[in-house]
Amino acid sequence: MGIQMTFLGHSGFLVESGSHAVAIDPFLTGNPLATLKADQIKCTHIVLTPGHGDHFGDTIVIAKANKAEVIAAYEICEYVGEQGISGNPGNPGGRIDTPFGWVAFTQAFHSSSYEGRYMGMPCGIVLHMGGVTLYHCGDTTIFGDMKLIGEIYRPDVACIPIGDRFTMGPELATRAAKMICPKLSVPIHYQPMDLLVQTADDFKPQGVEVKVLQPGEHWAYDV
Ligand code: MN
Repeated sequence: MGIQMTFLGHSGFLVESGSHAVAIDPFLTGNPLATLKADQIKCTHIVLTPGHGDHFGDTIVIAKANKAEVIAAYEICEYVGEQGISGNPGNPGGRIDTPFGWVAFTQAFHSSSYEGRYMGMPCGIVLHMGGVTLYHCGDTTIFGDMKLIGEIYRPDVACIPIGDRFTMGPELATRAAKMICPKLSVPIHYQPMDLLVQTADDFKPQGVEVKVLQPGEHWAYDV
């Protein structure tokens, strides 16, 4: 058991286990750090955090090419449904059983819109696949319930935004990682724009291992 993860750059991942592959926030077109193109993504499901372009990204193209189901906030699923894509909606606090395991939605303190359209609550997601639990915080600041989310889901891996300005920066993200207390933390949502923090050097949560991934980097996490 375990998962294989490929970092797509920014907040995006491809998480694979057995016959299933989940693309999280597949922002490739227009992402200067992306090493893969949308037509190279093979997946069975797409999971989204906020509906903004730097997360929604190539969802429509990838979902259509793969006949992949989109698991996301209710309003995002309404939108993709209008494009003929199958959606599996949720909202914070909810958990959806899936063929690969389950996806739970958490709160995230952010906004969520796409081309001026309201896209519902921004969410973090907890993905359980291949026996591994992964908490992708989405775009958010730190909040006290991160400790509770850590206690409830006991994530093996947490993907934590550190880029500042639109999310927490490295200092707050360091505190967030200590609250969530995963076995491994992966910094995300930095670098591609000049406005954001350019390195993960200041993300140093004591007692939590940090894995800095390069876009395109592929690694396995076994349990
Ligand atoms: Mn973002």
